Amino acid sequence: MHLLGRVRAVVKSPGVPAQAPVVAEARRRGMPVLGELELAWRCVPNEVIAVTGTNGKTTTVELLGHLHREAGLPVVVVGNVGTAYASLAAEPPAPEAVVVCEASSFQLEDAIEFAPEAAVLLNLGADHLDRHGTVAAYHAAKLRIFAGQGNDDVAVAPERLGVEDLGGCARRVCFGDSPEAELSLRAGTLWWAQEPLLRADEVRLRGPHNLRNAMAAAAAVLARGMDPDAVRAGLRTFAGVPHRLEEVAEAGGILYVNDSKATNVESTLVALRSFTQPVHVILGGQGKAQDFTPLRDAAPAAAYLIGEDAKLIAAAIGDAYPVVRCGDLEHAVAAARAAAAPGDVVLLSPACASFDQFRDFEHRGEEFARLART
Ligand code: ADP
Repeated sequence: MHLLGRVRAVVKSPGVPAQAPVVAEARRRGMPVLGELELAWRCVPNEVIAVTGTNGKTTTVELLGHLHREAGLPVVVVGNVGTAYASLAAEPPAPEAVVVCEASSFQLEDAIEFAPEAAVLLNLGADHLDRHGTVAAYHAAKLRIFAGQGNDDVAVAPERLGVEDLGGCARRVCFGDSPEAELSLRAGTLWWAQEPLLRADEVRLRGPHNLRNAMAAAAAVLARGMDPDAVRAGLRTFAGVPHRLEEVAEAGGILYVNDSKATNVESTLVALRSFTQPVHVILGGQGKAQDFTPLRDAAPAAAYLIGEDAKLIAAAIGDAYPVVRCGDLEHAVAAARAAAAPGDVVLLSPACASFDQFRDFEHRGEEFARLART
C-alpha cells in the first residue's frame, strides 16, 4: 500500500484483476483507476471504431483497417496485436486518421468515459470464466463498449443478441439474417439499407463465422458513410490474419490449416463448420475450465489430442468419433497425416490455451506450419 503514497491516478494493465490489493486500495481511497483503453482514449483525439466480442476481434479490426485503406481513408489499427493504443499518445497519427481498436473484456471492464464513434459487438460467448467469474459479469464487461456513446455514434451488434438494451445512446445498427437487419444476409446475398451489396461467396474470408465478422465490419463503415464500392472491393480482397484458418501447406493432396488462435471450444466448432471436406482436427492444451462436451456434436473424421487437458477432452468426446491420444504436436501431425486421404484437411484448432507446451499460440501455429511443411 506504500506504493500509493504520492500517486494521483492508477493506470491498470488489463492483466491485473480488479481484486488486486493495490487496485482495491486505490479505489477505496477514491483515486482514479484507469485502464489502458481509457487512458489511450483520453490522450488520443482521433475518431475511434472499437471492436469487441468473444471471437473474431482481430480479424474484424484488420478487416476494418483494410476497408479504410481500400477507400483511401487514413487509418491506424491498434490492439492486442502490434501497436498498443496508448502508444499513439506519444506518436499521434494524422488528425483525420481513424483509430480502429480491439477492446477485450478485460480492457472494457476498466472503461469509464470511453465513447468510441463506432462500437462493434461481434458475439457473446462464454470465455475467461476463470477471470470474470460468471457469464453475466463477462457480458456486462463487453456491453460497456456502448455505455459512453452519444446520439451521433454508431452501435453495431448482432440482430439476435438476447440483450434488448445495449446501453448508451448510439444509433443501433444490426447485422443478421432477417430483412429487418440493416446489414442482412438473404439468399446468399449481403444487403445494406435495402440495396444488394455483394454475394456472400464473393467475400474472400473462409467460413460462416468470418462472414459474420465481414458483415459487422461492413455495417460499421457503411453506417459511417463509407462508399459501398470500396466496401465491396475490400471484402473481395481481404485474405485474413495469420493463425486463423490460415492455409499453411498442401502436400499429397492434403491441406494443412493453422487455426492456432482457436483457444476456446466455440472457435474450434466454427472452424470445423468452415470445411465441407473430411477434417482431421488437432485439439488440446490448457482448457481454462471450459466445458468440452459441445465438441461431441462436431463431426470431424478424427481428433488428435495433445497437451494438459487431453484426458478431459477425450472424456467429453466419448465415442462420438475416433480420438487418438498423441501427447505432443509432432506426434499429432504425424498421426493425422498418416490417416488423412487426398482431399482431406489437417486442422490445428485446439480449443485450448497453448502455455503448457508452447510460448504462445503463435509459437504453436508456427510449429504446426513447420511440421506440416516437413
Ligand atoms: P479474437 O481477436 O477475438 O480472439 P480472432 O479474429 O483472432 O478473434 O479469431 C479467433 C478465433 O475465433 C479464430 O480462430 C476463429 O476460429 C474464431 N472466430 C473468428 N470469428 C468468429 C466469430 N464471428 N464467431 C465465432 N468464432 C469466431
